[in-house]
Amino acid sequence: MHLKTPTPADVAGKTVLLRVDYNVPLEEKNGLRVVVDDRRIRASLPTVQFLQENDAKIVLISHLGRPKTGSDNRFSLTPVAAHLNEALGFPVNFVPDVVGPAARDAVNALQPGQVLILQNLRFHPGEKNNDPYFAQELASLAGIYINDAFSAAHRAHASTVGVTAHLPAFAGFSLQEEVNHLSSLMDNPARPLIIVLGGAKISDKVGAAEHLSKIADLVLIGGAVANNFIKAEGIEVHKSYLEDSPADSSKEGVDYIEFARRLIEAHKTEKVLKDGYIPLPKILYPVDVLAAPDKEASDPATVTTIDISAGPPDTANDQNLAYLDIGPNTIKLYSELLANAGTIFWNGPMGVWENDLFAAGTRAVAQAIAQNPNTTIVGGGDTIAAIDHFGLSGSFKYVSIAGGAALDFLSGRMLPGIEPLIVEP
Ligand code: ADP
Ligand code: MG
Repeated sequence: MHLKTPTPADVAGKTVLLRVDYNVPLEEKNGLRVVVDDRRIRASLPTVQFLQENDAKIVLISHLGRPKTGSDNRFSLTPVAAHLNEALGFPVNFVPDVVGPAARDAVNALQPGQVLILQNLRFHPGEKNNDPYFAQELASLAGIYINDAFSAAHRAHASTVGVTAHLPAFAGFSLQEEVNHLSSLMDNPARPLIIVLGGAKISDKVGAAEHLSKIADLVLIGGAVANNFIKAEGIEVHKSYLEDSPADSSKEGVDYIEFARRLIEAHKTEKVLKDGYIPLPKILYPVDVLAAPDKEASDPATVTTIDISAGPPDTANDQNLAYLDIGPNTIKLYSELLANAGTIFWNGPMGVWENDLFAAGTRAVAQAIAQNPNTTIVGGGDTIAAIDHFGLSGSFKYVSIAGGAALDFLSGRMLPGIEPLIVEP
């Protein structure tokens, strides 16, 4: 996949509409809303700096959260502008509108190298509806468009798709980096390619699980996602978390246990030899789990290890149990396999790592991946929070900040926001 990348000549002296993803977590501190994780903001700075060096006038556009009505102050981009100015020492102006006279005047007042942030795109219903009139209004502010928001590229909105009908469109550096790293998993990866999937939200991951299973040598399943696979094999999971099939019409009819059963079945005959002679199925789920009546448990005495491969017991006591982490034998098996991987992609914690009693699986898998010197790519909001917590975020080849868009991309689908940025072969 070849993306249109901007050269200095494309941007020099131009007004550039730069789509970024500043949908960052905010928290209230001393009566002010402040940015608590600025990864996505920092990721956009190389493109902004490139534009500054080439005397472009820069107009940043982003969404933030899901405001129901226009101008809900809780979703204002003011804290993001303040963070750029104060915490990052990166001077930007802010205008509390997206289109209209105030925005236009602020854009017209820009000098080469100056940066302006417009208000939250979603304060206008035209953004999510990909309204052609709104897209045209937005586009009329600038001479060219650059998309540096991979994490919003799975949505066909005015700022990701609509504007490209009106302006020459290019890919920003952070978007290119995401595309390159994620593509490297699907295009000729160094083998064995191991996919590690966990977390709670299987609904987000079915597309990527299905597509990557075809490409990968091994798929290691953990977290609450694994409960679907355990149950699909006819083993009781008692009070364990299973995501309900969503009410969301686009995913209607998806039964995740049935999905797990199909995935196991589809790859049943593809065996992988561990240590050169032990045959393993390609789709692996835990051989043992840590179980307790409650994920908030604080007493280690309430935690038991259950041997899944033996078919767990089913007494009245067991019926109160939830499976909350992968067990010690699974940790050993997964760690040994990961040590020999040529390429690894990991999304989703192995257990409820937020509770120390159920953090061992996620920590061990994170460490095994961190120690692998080959291509290691990690993604997912909660997975990133976990590696930050373990102090390991710097130990992977690439940490994807694209969340759901990365999983969509890995399902093999062309994302609507990427399509206009591709160079014709
Ligand atoms: P990500 O954001 O990395 O894609 P998810 O949002 O799918 O991951 O899931 C993350 C959450 O899954 C974690 O916060 C963790 O507490 C929860 N989780 C992991 N394993 C289990 C489990 N066995 N039972 C219940 N919740 C789990
Ligand atoms: Mg999450």
